Amino acid sequence: MRRLFRHKLMILCYHGISLDDEHEWWPGVFMTEDKFCGRLKLLKDHGYRVLGLEDALNRLSEGSLPANSIVITADDGYLNSPETLVECCQEFGYPLTIYVTSYYAEKQTPIFNVMVQYLFWKTDRSSLKGDLSAIGLPGVDHIDLGDSVEKQRWCERIINYGRENCDEDGRQNILEALCAKLELNYGGMVKAGMFRLMGQKQLQMIADKGVDVQLHTHRHVFPVDKDQANREISENREFLEPIAGKSLEHFCYPSGKWDPAQLPWLNKMSIRSATTCNLGFVSEGDDYLTLRRYLDKQTISDNEFLAEISGFLAFARQIRGKVRSIWN
Ligand SMILES: [Zn+2]
Repeated sequence: MRRLFRHKLMILCYHGISLDDEHEWWPGVFMTEDKFCGRLKLLKDHGYRVLGLEDALNRLSEGSLPANSIVITADDGYLNSPETLVECCQEFGYPLTIYVTSYYAEKQTPIFNVMVQYLFWKTDRSSLKGDLSAIGLPGVDHIDLGDSVEKQRWCERIINYGRENCDEDGRQNILEALCAKLELNYGGMVKAGMFRLMGQKQLQMIADKGVDVQLHTHRHVFPVDKDQANREISENREFLEPIAGKSLEHFCYPSGKWDPAQLPWLNKMSIRSATTCNLGFVSEGDDYLTLRRYLDKQTISDNEFLAEISGFLAFARQIRGKVRSIWN
């Protein structure tokens, strides 16, 4: 099976390593350090070749990609990356690309919308009563948290309120008030660095160690509006390029969302490659502005991981598709 897919490239996608129980809340984004290091060991034990992003793409274009090639990428740039993702990769001698979104790298506060959702998952409270204006719900005096759909609705309302009505200090005040209402420890979470991104100091440290720091927009949005999209990339570059000490030409769509209209804009902005969250291998001749990846998760077993990167599962999907088209 591996022979069929051996000259295709698999780009792995990670995000953050848990400080506490984040992987139980959102296993598609947070992973334990043991699980991540275990994956790197599997790559080594099964003879995969881990290349840097730029090197792999160049070799794919030249037709000289080694068999069973892998690229490791991580999105967002979480604060504990130097002592987790980076250290694990360096232990195995594997190159790593981290796509960094710069707004929260500059602010050095927890990411508002991510933390609001975590707090609602974490709390044992089944309802909140009293004046709820401090948590972004003015005019509301009672919310029920027993029902998960209701809970999600309140969560979104608070996030929208914070986005539309507050500056960053205001949003952090909401998080602090929300922790108090939900009986959770805001100070402890902030001190631990939960939901925070690397700042200039940590980014410089990993760039000096050879980690490839690349683009992921300034505010973690990439609108289908040429001027706003340009602004997202230029502000992201302004923050990251002095740290990286080179011009940055590799990009990752926030939340994997992209639109065909954006591709010519990326070309104009001298972006050479852009990764999505669409599952699959990258083959010679593919558009480098819509690169497929494999989003690895805490809940994926080692066997399933190996089946995916070997091409076995892609092959099984192709067969299933063919059978379905004959049948229908
Ligand atoms: Zn992201």
